[in-house]
Amino acid sequence: MVGLRPARYLFQLRKSCLYCGATLPATKKEHIFNSCWGGSFSTNKLICGKCNEYFSQTIDSELTTYTKFVMNSWGIKGERHKQIPEIVTDGEYNIRAYAKPKLKTENCSVKASSDGSLEFNFSCSSKEEVYKWLNSDKPETDLGRTLTAEERQWIKQRIQEAKLEKINVEPQPLFINLNLSKQYRSVAHTLLKCLGLYDPDLVRGDMTRKVREFIRYEQGNWEEFAVTVNQLIPSVKDRLSQKLGVNYNSVEIYWCCSLEKIIGVLTLLGRIQRAVILAENCKVPNAILAVVEDTYLTRQIPKSFFLELEQQIADIPLIEILFSPPKIEFFRKEISHIASVSLPFEGLNAFLAESIYKIGEQTQELTLKSLQEYEKLFLDFVSNLEKLFGISVEPKVVSSQLAVNGFSDLVQYHIGKNFKEHPEVQDTLLTACTKTWEELTNQLQMKIEREIPE
Ligand SMILES: [Zn+2]
Repeated sequence: MVGLRPARYLFQLRKSCLYCGATLPATKKEHIFNSCWGGSFSTNKLICGKCNEYFSQTIDSELTTYTKFVMNSWGIKGERHKQIPEIVTDGEYNIRAYAKPKLKTENCSVKASSDGSLEFNFSCSSKEEVYKWLNSDKPETDLGRTLTAEERQWIKQRIQEAKLEKINVEPQPLFINLNLSKQYRSVAHTLLKCLGLYDPDLVRGDMTRKVREFIRYEQGNWEEFAVTVNQLIPSVKDRLSQKLGVNYNSVEIYWCCSLEKIIGVLTLLGRIQRAVILAENCKVPNAILAVVEDTYLTRQIPKSFFLELEQQIADIPLIEILFSPPKIEFFRKEISHIASVSLPFEGLNAFLAESIYKIGEQTQELTLKSLQEYEKLFLDFVSNLEKLFGISVEPKVVSSQLAVNGFSDLVQYHIGKNFKEHPEVQDTLLTACTKTWEELTNQLQMKIEREIPE
């Protein structure tokens, strides 16, 4: 009844820019999914250098308003970025990777007293910051001379001995300017590029002229194109979020017979979804094109498939429009939820996952000590959640969940076993951690959503 086939790329046939008609190939390549959201595949066979330059100066980074939060909390780097995006706030702290607060001004100073001894004071977000200071030219500037090897050693000693003081950081003020016109132009631009890989005639033709002029020449208003939709058949997001989590960007193009429209849906990092009307009043048979790229910077052509529906069911609704256009309130609520709930919650989740992985890498055999380290990670996780959201889980509940999920068997029968010789032991360990983590997050997420007012 339904035909599914891999989408066939036709972009090698493109000879002119899809916006202005200038001759291709361009000297510079254009990313299909923006590099600042983790996209890595680029081509010079869709867009000319001049249009590319224009987009990079006007709209390309517009959606980082949302994506930087997801990338920060999950520790994702963009292709051109050496570091995980930091969130710059209007408060005393910025937010570094995994949603951790970091003082905007780290205070470190060294000076020589009259008796020749050193005075060294510091108050920083982490020891790492103090070491960074020590390895910069700042001590030298403070002191007016270089540090001797002994002095450097003495400072290192002081850093090692320093005790970490835990402070509860209040939510930081954050002013966000939402330029919805630029954001929707960036969304529509990405949709057209994906469509252009598959159906170059459609993206050059009359049917999509209006949206092209909106994207490239700012003609018209975003409200004419923006819609909120409900995807009536399982979407790429439903299928992929289990497997890839936040590590993908995707585009779905719907040729909707019943609506006489072509609608594109862009999903950023598995979290943020935007839909745009690409063409209207068009009599088209039902079809769906999906294009997906993961964020592992492979530079491969994005995966894609094309779904055609047979004539008998050519007019069943594929997608329904809920709002046209979405209300401003929708965007305000979404960004506030991302910044105040998703960022810290997902940041802690990602940090836990990363830490479990790190201990796993260092451990060769099952020891009581390593099991205690895992348990401590979970206890820190729930205690941090309590600090952030005021939702408490008793430590003994966490310990008993771990025990039930496999830790008690591991303690009783498998201590001392080498993972290489007994991969099943390592499997039990990972299963116990994953299961406990899933149980905790499901339980807590529901509580958090209930506690946080709309
Ligand atoms: Zn052009």
